[in-house]
Amino acid sequence: MDISLLDETGIAELNASLLNASPREILATLIPNLGRSALSFSGAEDVVTIEHSIKAITNRDQLPEIFTLDTGRLPPATQRYLEVVRAHYGIKLDLLSPDPDELREFVRSKGLFSFYEDGHTECCGIRKVAPLRRHLANFDAWITGQRRDQSPTRSEVAIIEIDRTFSTTEHRLIKVNPLANTTSEEVWNTIRLFDIPYNELHDHGYVSIGCEPCTKAIGPNQHEREGRWWWEESTHKECGLHITTPLKVR
Ligand code: SF4
Repeated sequence: MDISLLDETGIAELNASLLNASPREILATLIPNLGRSALSFSGAEDVVTIEHSIKAITNRDQLPEIFTLDTGRLPPATQRYLEVVRAHYGIKLDLLSPDPDELREFVRSKGLFSFYEDGHTECCGIRKVAPLRRHLANFDAWITGQRRDQSPTRSEVAIIEIDRTFSTTEHRLIKVNPLANTTSEEVWNTIRLFDIPYNELHDHGYVSIGCEPCTKAIGPNQHEREGRWWWEESTHKECGLHITTPLKVR
């Protein structure tokens, strides 16, 4: 199977065929057929995508290139955790930084906390979306830790899809979400079953973890995305990495 040759219908059929597959089965089926692939790791419970990927491949040469968006605002605990994961799996971990000139001008003109006043879109655009766009231009596919149960904006996440945000008319990018149908409970069962190291912030009420100024601990029965950008509407709680807008691609 060459996924790069599949049209929209072929991708939809492949997605349907994987609906009942486990994350590891999904990755074992797809990774060898994705071409050059990258795997995004946020420094949180999406560590299971690394775990499943390593167990899904037959040799390390097949492992997607793993990266984290180093926004410059990650909590120190997350920075420490990235190094724990790097050592635990013996992986190379690429930390993507914002463009220094763009960031400098943004901070010079608007300061370090403008997102509390006018929303997170501009800051996320500079610190996350632009570096990611530059990075993904080098790949045929990227693997994410998105799950349907994470937020209202992710309730229809597919297992495999054409990325509508980062594809261009010249470059089609495939997005794979092996955890799409996995629940938070299942993710944490995997972490405990395989004794996977996790971010210490999870022991302090943090469920969804992002940048320090935009993440807080939550209480019992609060949805995990209530700890992110809590000053904004729940339907706006994406950083621009996973927005779906129609785009004509081959
Ligand atoms: S999550 Fe907050 S600090 Fe991080 S890039 Fe977005 S707005 Fe900026």
